[in-house]
Amino acid sequence: MRFIAFAAAVTLLCLFLGRAAIMLTARRGADRDANADEGRVRVVIDAGHGGEDGGTSGGGLTEKDVNLAVAESMYDILSAAGVECVMTRTDDRLLYDKYGDLSDYTGRKKVYDLRNRLRIAEEHEDAVFVSVHMNYFASKKYSGLQVWYSPNDASSRTLADTVQSTVRKYLQPDNDRETKRAGSAIYLLDRIRTPAILVECGFLSNDEECKRLGDSDYRRSLALVMSEAVMEFLCGRDSA
Ligand SMILES: [Zn+2]
Repeated sequence: MRFIAFAAAVTLLCLFLGRAAIMLTARRGADRDANADEGRVRVVIDAGHGGEDGGTSGGGLTEKDVNLAVAESMYDILSAAGVECVMTRTDDRLLYDKYGDLSDYTGRKKVYDLRNRLRIAEEHEDAVFVSVHMNYFASKKYSGLQVWYSPNDASSRTLADTVQSTVRKYLQPDNDRETKRAGSAIYLLDRIRTPAILVECGFLSNDEECKRLGDSDYRRSLALVMSEAVMEFLCGRDSA
């Protein structure tokens, strides 16, 4: 199983670098013409929760830590491929006081944290937003990655479908989940205007999946597959 995952990861990496080279060549061409692409952020990577908000937990793992590990790997992979990215957080904290709006955030930490994640997304209006989370359900039997998409930009669904199908193809052949349209319960996807998805990477409530999510090799494979999907989406968008 480990070997299959590794072989899949290597194959993906080759595909990914091939794509990255095509994209970079296209970018250089565009830069020569317009010199406008330099430093343009293409992806905002959001590690969900942080600090006093651990998110869900299971098997000794806390969601906020797994989210950050996957988000950091995505940042490294996409940056190495020449895709400009930013992360909403790079350490273990909530973002409620990022802009210093209030002197006292008592009782308002969660709402200001979400507001500020949205604000970061809005600062990069050409970028796509990828929020990384882990799932939990009372019944332990459920497993598998699930992608939610924002209803506000039609291409959010395309991005979600690309991530869901790429994960099915390379990592989870038995995953028959469909992408889901987010409602008002998902604050960020409900309000964001740019193409945006929230990826529930796996269930910490499922013993087997939780064990995999605790393995750094598996988390890197997951990040690689999701990065490949994001690249595919960006390439499609650039050539449209
Ligand atoms: Zn979460």
